[in-house]
Amino acid sequence: MESLTELYRIGNGPSSSHSLGPRAAMTAFCARHPEAAAVEVVLYGSLAATGRGHGTDRALEAGADGRPVRIRWRPDVSLPAHPNGMRFIARDAADGEVAAWTAYSVGGGAIRGEGESLGPRTSVYDRSTFAGILGWCRATGRGIPDWVEEREGAGIWDFLTGIRAAMDAAIDRGLAASGELPGGLGVRRRAASHLAGEGKVPLWRRTTLAVYALAVSEENAAGGVVVTAPTCGGAGVLPAVLRHIAEEHRCDDRAVLRALATAGVVGNLVKTNASISGAAIGCQGEVGTACAMAAAAAAELLGASPAQIECAAEIGIEHHLGMTCDPVAGLVQIPCIERNAVGALRAVDAAALAMLGDGSHRVSFDQAVEAMRRTGADLGEGYRETSRAGLAAIVGPPPEPGNACG
Ligand code: SF4
Repeated sequence: MESLTELYRIGNGPSSSHSLGPRAAMTAFCARHPEAAAVEVVLYGSLAATGRGHGTDRALEAGADGRPVRIRWRPDVSLPAHPNGMRFIARDAADGEVAAWTAYSVGGGAIRGEGESLGPRTSVYDRSTFAGILGWCRATGRGIPDWVEEREGAGIWDFLTGIRAAMDAAIDRGLAASGELPGGLGVRRRAASHLAGEGKVPLWRRTTLAVYALAVSEENAAGGVVVTAPTCGGAGVLPAVLRHIAEEHRCDDRAVLRALATAGVVGNLVKTNASISGAAIGCQGEVGTACAMAAAAAAELLGASPAQIECAAEIGIEHHLGMTCDPVAGLVQIPCIERNAVGALRAVDAAALAMLGDGSHRVSFDQAVEAMRRTGADLGEGYRETSRAGLAAIVGPPPEPGNACG
């Protein structure tokens, strides 16, 4: 498994795979070909189907360092290696081809070049299953965050301190903003107004938790700065759960960082053994994984054993199996924003359910992740970030090539 520094990335929304990744790929391509006068980019598959709604065009321009960018949208063609394929062509002043490169945005902002393995690049960790990690915990009598520190070094805590600050800042900015989100769907920010009305919902004490998730996801939809956890689309779940529980239970900073480390291990396990890309396996890989990460974080914060933490993460995955990615009009708004709030609520419930028992349970986290991988492979293309099926087909306008929102 890769370092947690490859999982948690700070960047502008709305989509890690459709905006952060393409921007990083363009930046890398331009750095390798400073002679390029202009860059042509062919976007394939999901990137082309929901690219403009997800801000791919703006992300590519931002990464081109002032060079003109010409985009060709090919939603009708999916490259065999991954549904998020891109071909970069460097052009000279006479429009001649100087160089070309095919790359894939494989989820969470990560990029892989043609011929490169789509899996993890580095192997910071010596175990890639939860069963293996539990074995280490049993043998050493230590917790999951201790394993993280052993593998990553003590510097990981400074990194996670920065990640936590960025998560909190996204909540605060989301709570301070109002108005309509961009894209033309007419979706209004509601985190701030919901918070102002806190306590008015009978029998519901967790308004704040849901509102924190809404705040981050609205920031993401507006193109604000968020942390991939594991992606931009699922970025609201973990910050909301961490902050809500830390406030409710007066957890200290060290405990929150340890929870962030444990959540990162959960996200890394899914990334390694299935996928965190909505285009590859649907929203189960994004918000489903975010829920599992947050469930594990909640359990860690509340003093659960490693076995209970594994159980919490498994519940988080199991009850998102099969969840499709069908963003209306290609925007990361419906169902994404509300889905983050529901994911945060479910995460806390998953942690509570797990902590009612001693951690023993029938379905292991590793089995649930394998089920996720296989389920994702069975999902039709319309349910994998193309806005061609599900809610997108019923609620939104039919997507135009490259611009589902018009
Ligand atoms: S439905 Fe889920 S996976 Fe798809 S864009 Fe929205 S948050 Fe991402």
